[in-house]
Amino acid sequence: MARTAPRLWLDGEVVDSARAQIGAMGQALQRGSLVFDVGSFHPFRDAKALFRAREHVRRFLRSAASVGIAVTFDEEVLVRAAASVVNACDAREGLVRWSAFFTADEPDLLPRSSQATVIVAAQIYEDAPRTTPMRIAIFEDARKAAPEALSPLVKVAAAYLGPSMAKRRAIASGAEEIVLLDAHGDIAEAPTANVFAVVDGVLVTPPIGTVLDGITRDAVLAIARRDGIAAREATISRDAFAKADEAFLTATSFPIMPIGSVNGAPLGSAPGPVTTRLSDALARAIRGEDESDTCAGWHQPI
Ligand code: PMP
Repeated sequence: MARTAPRLWLDGEVVDSARAQIGAMGQALQRGSLVFDVGSFHPFRDAKALFRAREHVRRFLRSAASVGIAVTFDEEVLVRAAASVVNACDAREGLVRWSAFFTADEPDLLPRSSQATVIVAAQIYEDAPRTTPMRIAIFEDARKAAPEALSPLVKVAAAYLGPSMAKRRAIASGAEEIVLLDAHGDIAEAPTANVFAVVDGVLVTPPIGTVLDGITRDAVLAIARRDGIAAREATISRDAFAKADEAFLTATSFPIMPIGSVNGAPLGSAPGPVTTRLSDALARAIRGEDESDTCAGWHQPI
């Protein structure tokens, strides 16, 4: 869990977080149309840096455009907004969350105005990072919305409701996390993380379009390819996943989390050798210790 820093950026100004209010009759609350993205900041050299902030902001603007929210701030301003809230908080490591929602307090399906409020907040971790492998559940009927119904590329609040209900079921069954299936019954992603498996010696992750284009997913694929680890973006069947040599989740907040079991059955080795190698390499990249071309431009020093 992470708590919000006391000061956040609200439509151009750093203010007390209590100033960021949302109307009870607003479309964001009544219809779930708030869009968001979550990046991270880390110690970097003698200061701090945002990690891949431009990619997060671009994805945020893409989500906003998809639901018809007009964000008037450009990429540069939104990256600087993140830097300003990270600067204003004393933590050296944490998350940064961009959110946008229709400003008008009207609950109609299609609001009359596309004008938006934008908030950028730093979030500070409250718990020590978890390192033990995760117990995963997979249920035949816990699936992502079909891409034709709701694109997995849009980070809109409403898209997280089905996955969060599936996660509750997973927890009630004794697991800690759910891996959702796609509309065809193949492996898709966790509610807020991408999935990788090592199948027949090849690192595989489901293709973008059935899942979100995770920025950690992209970093893992880039590092794997650079380091000569065979990697493919391809469909993973439930059977192949159950027999995988190793598997892990990726998300900005972990960034790599080994999967220890699926529906109570141990899965391969956890963390397996490929997971450990990628996890170490990604941690070095995030700390700014990897100066290869692959990681060039990944940091935005503050
Ligand atoms: N899938 C979904 C549905 C997510 O919400 C997230 C978190 N943004 C991810 C995957 C992981 O993406 P990232 O590595 O960019 O955090």
